[in-house]
Formats: sequence, structure tokens, C-alpha cells
Amino acid sequence: MATRMDLDGRPIKPMTICMIGAGGFIGSHLCEKLMAETPHKVLALDVYSDKIKHLLEPDSLPWAGRIVFHRLNIKHDSRLEGLIKMADLTINLAAICTPADYNTRPLDTIYSNFIDALPVVKYCSENNKRLIHFSTCEVYGKTIGSFLPKDSPLRKEDTSPCIFGSIEKQRWSYACAKQLIERLIYAEGAENGLDFTIVRPFNWIGPRMDFIPGIDGPSESVPRVLACFSNNLLRREPLKLVDGGESQRTFVYIKDAIEAVLLMIENPDRANGHIFNVGNPNNEVTVRQLAEMMTKVYAKVSGKPSLESPTIDVSSKEFYGEGYDDSDKRIPDMTIINRQLGWNPKTTLWDLLESTLTYQHRTYAEAIKKSMVKPIAS
Ligand code: NAD
Ligand code: UDP
Repeated sequence: MATRMDLDGRPIKPMTICMIGAGGFIGSHLCEKLMAETPHKVLALDVYSDKIKHLLEPDSLPWAGRIVFHRLNIKHDSRLEGLIKMADLTINLAAICTPADYNTRPLDTIYSNFIDALPVVKYCSENNKRLIHFSTCEVYGKTIGSFLPKDSPLRKEDTSPCIFGSIEKQRWSYACAKQLIERLIYAEGAENGLDFTIVRPFNWIGPRMDFIPGIDGPSESVPRVLACFSNNLLRREPLKLVDGGESQRTFVYIKDAIEAVLLMIENPDRANGHIFNVGNPNNEVTVRQLAEMMTKVYAKVSGKPSLESPTIDVSSKEFYGEGYDDSDKRIPDMTIINRQLGWNPKTTLWDLLESTLTYQHRTYAEAIKKSMVKPIAS
């Protein structure tokens, strides 16, 4: 492998990365990228390894030995500090980050996103290790910017105040926990010199995101919107639009977003002390428009015509239960990441849906067919 150069033309030294939550959606893509394109080593920590098992075995893989899986729960495992000490850089991805959990499991959500992340920050700070922490665009809360004139400085979410819903709207338990851990990391940087980077993902989507209920996850669980809509399309059911599907999101292809993370990893001088929005402002749609586009793309990749009524309206109370509230709109501002790392997203919404739904169809269509014709036990 040729020596990799950083953005300032200096050779990049191979490093060891302690990746917590490596078995999840983002972690699996990041591990794949690091193994295929860099000489770095990964200590992969998670309670699950299904999404990275293709990288772990067999011994004949070209990166054999550069990635080692440690099955552990960071809530209670004394090996955590030792693994952080062994690494040059820690990346923390571990979290409960599915909206269906925020109002129904608020305690688990707050513990996972704040309390469980505390020792990771502490060990990095005490051992002078660099930390890349995954936060969320939800720390911005409800948008104030969209109600203001175009030239108002408050339209810039990076510097404007953040607005959350009331306490009984438990949806905001996640955003609030993420914001407090961001503030703590920022304070560790300011008071104790912790080298940190915070990442705020804006709806990264692609293959291996979440699970298909009843196939590789519990049938009664509700994943994020990509997997919900994929599940509906695979089962030839109408896509459920929560409260009319009026909320807006910007979707970025996971492979574009992973390029941004690799730039952060390999350019510490440009990334330390910064908070990066990572999203694709060009891919903004309402959830209804997303449903319509996914329906068209899936008809193309599956070769089957779409349903006559492809969507159905459902109330948020019925779909998510009491205490749900929605993020109305996100405004991903790419100024900082563009200036520091020269990164820009590339993939259009249509193209990323086409490759993702091709993957979903290949991976799940057979299993869904079998599960739907299972004879009822007599
Ligand atoms: P994911 O659920 O697929 O991955 C999280 C991983 O962390 C899972 O594999 C889980 O098993 C692991 N984990 C959770 N608690 C753990 C614990 N106590 N010990 C060990 N492992 C644990 O989610 P993702 O989409 O890959 O998200 C990763 C990070 O990015 C999260 O912090 C999330 O809040 C943030 N984020 C993601 C998005 C997105 O668009 N995907 C958006 C906003 C924020
Ligand atoms: N949503 C929907 N139908 C579904 C799943 C989600 O209309 O089957 C909506 C949800 O209410 C929200 C948006 O899709 O407005 C995005 O939801 P997601 O779970 O991806 O997470 P979020 O962006 O809110 O964190």
C-alpha cells in the first residue's frame, strides 16, 4: 500500500483506533473503509458483530490481524480503559439512536447517550488520547431558522440557540443527552486540553442500516425511516406517513459521509477542536417525497409495479406512542467541514436510494417471501 498523505502533504503514520460501536451501521462502513484503503489497525468494540463479520474472518483476508473484535458492553467492562490506552485515537459511536426508543425507553436513551459515554471521555482525557465523538444534528432541536428572514444570522444553526420540546415530550431525551455530552467534551477540551472532534450526522443512510423487522430484528420493533420504508416495500405494504409526512430531512449517502470521517481521522491538526456537521444540503425532501421516490426506485430495482395506493397516513401517537415529537426540518451547513477538510457530499438522493434498495432487495426479498408463506403450525 502506497504511503497515504494528509491534506497538508505530510505522510500519515499508521495508527491504532479504538472504535466503540464498531458493529453498528456507521461502524461497519468505517471498519470496511479503514481495512480496504488504509494501514490503520482497529480494536472493534461492540456487543454485536454481525455487520462486520465479513471483515473478521477468514485469516486469509488481506487485512487479517489489523482488525480485532472485542465483544463488550461499555456500561460495565473493566477492559475499556486498557483498550483506550492501547490506541492512538478513540471513536465513540455507541448509542441508542432510534427515535422509537426516545419516548418509550427514555431512561435507557439518556443513560446510553450521556452516562455510558462519560468514562470514555474521562479515559481519553486522563490518558491524553484523541477522541472523535458521534453526536447528532438533533442537538439543534426544532428549527428557528426556517421561521426567520433569509439573511437573519439566527438561520445559522451552528451559532444560533437550540430549542427543545417540553420535558413531557420525551422525544428530546436523546437530543438533550447528546447536547450535554457535547458540552462536557467541549469543557474537557477547554479546561484539560482534551483533543476532540465532534461529528453531527444529518441522516446518513445506506446498506446495513438498522434491521428488517421479523427478519434480522424483532418484528414489533420500529427502526429508522429507511428500514421502515424498505420493510413496507419488501412486503408490498403501503408506506406509513407519520402525521402526513410533512417533516423535512436531508439524506446523505453513508459512503460519502465515511469519506468525511476518514479525513477527520487522518488530519488531526485540521479536525481537533471542531464540531462538524456532516450531511447533504442538496438532498432535502419531505418524508412524503422520500416515500414517493423510494416507491419509484424500488419498482425499478425489483421489476415489480408499485401498489395503487403506495402510502397511508398514520398519527404519531399511533405509530410512536405518547411523548413523540418531530424534528421539523434540518439545515445542514457545510461551511466548517468544507473549510477545514475540503469535504463535499457527492451522491444524489436517487442514486443513493438505487444502490441501497438494490442491496435491500438482494439481501431480504427471499427471506421475506419465505417468512410470508410459512405454514401455520397445526
Ligand atoms: P447503530 O445503532 O447502528 O450503531 C450503534 C452501535 O453501538 C450498535 O452496534 C450497538 O450495539 C453499539 N452499542 C450501543 N451501546 C453499546 C454499549 N453499551 N456497549 C457496546 N456497544 C454498544 O447506529 P449508527 O447509525 O451507526 O450511529 C452511530 C452513532 O452516530 C450514534 O452515536 C448515533 O447517535 C450517531 N448518529 C447517527 C445518525 C445516522 O444518520 N445514522 C444520525 C445522528 C446521529
Ligand atoms: N417516519 C415516517 N414513517 C415511518 C418511519 C419514520 O413517516 O415508517 C418519519 C418520522 O416521523 C420522521 C422521519 O420519518 O419525521 C425520519 O425518521 P427517522 O426514524 O429516520 O429519524 P429522525 O430523522 O427523526 O431522527
